Amino acid sequence: MLPLSIDPKSHGQHYANYLKTLPKSVAAENNRRARERAEKEAAAFTAAFQEGKCSICKSDLTSYVADQPCLHWLLKPRGFEKTDLRKVADRFSMAQIELYIRRVANQEAFAKNINDLADEGTGKLVELTANYKNLEWAISCGKGDYDGHGSNSEESKRPHYHFQMRIDKKPYIDYADFHIPLHDSDIVTMEAERLAPAYVTRRFAGGEGMSEVFKEEIIERLALEGKRAENEADGIVKFDHLVIADKGTQLAWFHFQRRNPRSGHEDYPLSPSLSHPALNKLILGK
Ligand SMILES: [Zn+2]
Ligand SMILES: [Zn+2]
Repeated sequence: MLPLSIDPKSHGQHYANYLKTLPKSVAAENNRRARERAEKEAAAFTAAFQEGKCSICKSDLTSYVADQPCLHWLLKPRGFEKTDLRKVADRFSMAQIELYIRRVANQEAFAKNINDLADEGTGKLVELTANYKNLEWAISCGKGDYDGHGSNSEESKRPHYHFQMRIDKKPYIDYADFHIPLHDSDIVTMEAERLAPAYVTRRFAGGEGMSEVFKEEIIERLALEGKRAENEADGIVKFDHLVIADKGTQLAWFHFQRRNPRSGHEDYPLSPSLSHPALNKLILGK
């Protein structure tokens, strides 16, 4: 994909500069087309997955053919050994692996199986954990991995990432097991993202995680319009509140109750609307 004379980091720099000079309308059109393509791909993924098929190799998700590594191997079909991860990672980039585990995790529940919240991470370039049934995958790429570190192996000196996998909560692949080389395409994107963060947004059609849910506008919508999950485990987000009265005012418990439409009892903590201006009026008695 890249001319041999250009290393992927320089290519990423060129790409970042190109994005900065792109007219807004062209960038918007490019984004729209990319999103449309990604959404089609996500729909095809889901349709196949629900039938137990892989949208990439078209085989059963449980199939394993030793010389045909595929992303569905991450579901650990019978025959998959942990060293096979190398074959998958040779063929597919980190970005493709990340998108795959995100999409799989979302087959079980929207967003909540994917923890990609930057605040909880450690400022790494890429860090996320995704769960699906008894499987858990995690990807980690810190600045040191991206630049290359350590002197133990040639691979650790090259740009790489780490991958972890647990089965039934037990370690199966550890971060320390592999220094997986980043593909050139990963480096181009990550470099552009680093140099032009305002112009590169990571989006995962069908693979949205908690960071997507926790965007301010979405939190507000969830708070005001979100439905209460019958069962806590089925919820996407759990709200905890800290309410502080303005100086010189008092809060009474009934301000935080509302009639439960089903039981008719006032036993329904008023959590979804605490930020609503009407409630502020009520609380403050104005
Ligand atoms: Zn496959
Ligand atoms: Zn490393």
